Amino acid sequence: MLDLTGKNALVTGIANNRSIAWGIAQQLHKAGANLGVTYLPDEKGRFEKKVREVVEPLNPSIFVPCNVQDEAQMEETFKVVEETWGKLDILIHCLAFADKEGLSGDFSGISRESFTQSLEISTFSLGNMAKYAKPLMSEGGSIVTLTYVGGVKVIPNYNLMGVAKAGLEMTVRYLAAELGPQNIRVNAISAGPIRTLAASAVGGILDMIHHVEAVAPLRRTVTQLEVGNTATFLSSDLASGITGQVIYVDAGYEIMGM
Ligand code: NDP
Repeated sequence: MLDLTGKNALVTGIANNRSIAWGIAQQLHKAGANLGVTYLPDEKGRFEKKVREVVEPLNPSIFVPCNVQDEAQMEETFKVVEETWGKLDILIHCLAFADKEGLSGDFSGISRESFTQSLEISTFSLGNMAKYAKPLMSEGGSIVTLTYVGGVKVIPNYNLMGVAKAGLEMTVRYLAAELGPQNIRVNAISAGPIRTLAASAVGGILDMIHHVEAVAPLRRTVTQLEVGNTATFLSSDLASGITGQVIYVDAGYEIMGM
């Protein structure tokens, strides 16, 4: 039942071989899914080159630029999905952004500009992507996004991203309610702290990891591949009854009161 042969999966958010989205892409591929990959374009084409190198071994049938702040690129991405595959089964939303100001210092000092940009990229983008995915998920589907416990409880320095993740988790529930009648399931994975590019922007990420290693029931944090396993499960028929949920893949850290 975990066989994803014949399923088409679009994966967003691969920046390098430490990205959580890369762990997810590898496990979806292992389960037999056809992969499509998006990357965030930059003027010099460096990100494209980097991501292309990383994903090459999985031979994705789609490789397109997609900055979620650019509506034309969003439209084009899903147009390519339609032209290449005709239908989409799995959408992995694995991206977020907050500038430095949003990830350190006083929460009350966050500017309107930082707030708007972060929530547009990290939160609004999920519903906006679902809008394009919905007509392509004609045989049902699974949408999976990534969140963090800092969207539910206060974690030092997570500040603005905490608000973005709180909004993201609620977006998951509203989308699940809207799309359920079409058999499209929407879930979030709340991952433990992992050293990635995005995580390195959060002040004190290593302290977070060490704290989790000290107190989580499993006495460690998690890996990208473990998150990938859960994303693959959520994308498969094994999870056919699960929607609107936030599943913790955090070595049990979330249950601890102290
Ligand atoms: P990465 O830096 O590897 O991935 C973040 C991705 O978001 C990058 O590919 C980045 O592109 C992309 N991105 C940023 N802005 C945009 C945009 N405007 N349009 C399209 N893509 C964009 O870090 P992670 O793998 O850690 O992050 C993936 C997800 O996991 C995020 O939602 C994060 O909040 C979440 N998460 C991470 C945890 C961790 O500890 N690492 C814990 C729990 C959740 P680029 O790098 O090219 O700018």
